[in-house]
Amino acid sequence: MFVDSHAHIDGAEYDADREAVIQRARDASVRAILTVGTGDPHSGALERAVRLAGAHADIFAAIGTHPHDARLFDLAAEERIKSLIEQSPRVIAWGEIGLDYHYDNSPREVQREVFRRQLRLARGAGLPVIIHTREAEDDSIEILRAEWDPERRGIMHCFSGSQKLAEATMELGFLISFAGVVTFKKANDLREVAAQVPLDRLLIETDCPYLTPIPYRGRRNEPAHVVEVARCLAMIHGKTLEVMGQITTNNFTELFKVNLH
Ligand SMILES: [Zn+2]
Ligand SMILES: [Zn+2]
Repeated sequence: MFVDSHAHIDGAEYDADREAVIQRARDASVRAILTVGTGDPHSGALERAVRLAGAHADIFAAIGTHPHDARLFDLAAEERIKSLIEQSPRVIAWGEIGLDYHYDNSPREVQREVFRRQLRLARGAGLPVIIHTREAEDDSIEILRAEWDPERRGIMHCFSGSQKLAEATMELGFLISFAGVVTFKKANDLREVAAQVPLDRLLIETDCPYLTPIPYRGRRNEPAHVVEVARCLAMIHGKTLEVMGQITTNNFTELFKVNLH
C-alpha cells in the first residue's frame, strides 16, 4: 500500500475526470491522498480542497498560503484558514508554506514574513506543517530554527535540496518527502541524498499535476504514479517495493495520527 503525501487533485486540471483519477489511485493500492489547497486564499481554492477531502474517506487536506501567493496573505486569509481547520477534522496539516526564490512571485521580504506568521499560526493550531522551499535553503533553515517546535513535526515536501538541508530539517523533526524528480535521469545528487535519509523519515508524493515520474514523463501526473517514486526509493534503499510502500505509509499515519481504511 502507498500514500501520496502531496497532491493537488482539487485543482482545475482534474475537473474533467477527478473521480476516475481517484479510482486509478485506489486500483494502484494508494490508500490515502493528501490534497494541498494552494492559490489565492480569497479565491475559494482552500474551501475546494477541504470539500474534496470531506467527500472521500481516503483523501485528507492541507491548507495554507504558498510562498508564490504570500503577497495575498492577510488577516482575512488567516481567519479563513483557521476557521476551515476548526470546522473540518479532514484538514491535517498547514501548508504548503515556505520560500521560493526561484520564481520570486512574491517579494522575498513578504515571503519570509508570511512564512514566519504561518509557522506561528500552525503551532497555535497544533498542526504539522508542509514546507515548500526552492533556492532558499539558508533562509528556510534560519526561520524554521527560530519559529518551529520540533515536537509538532512536518514535511519537507518535494525535496530537491542538499544533504545539509535534509539534516538540518530532520533535526527539527521533519520528514523528507520525495517526488518524481528523484526518478529523473539527471537526479544522481538527489538520489545520493535520498540514500542518506533514514527509513523512518521517508515519505513519497506526486505533487501532481507536476513532476511526472519516469516512465510517464510528458503526461499529466496523478496519484497512481506515486508507486514509481516508491519503486525508486526502494531501489536506493535495497528494499522491495512492498516494504517501501509499507514504510512510507506507516510514516504518514504516524506523523498525522490517522487511520487508513
Ligand atoms: Zn510545493
Ligand atoms: Zn504542492
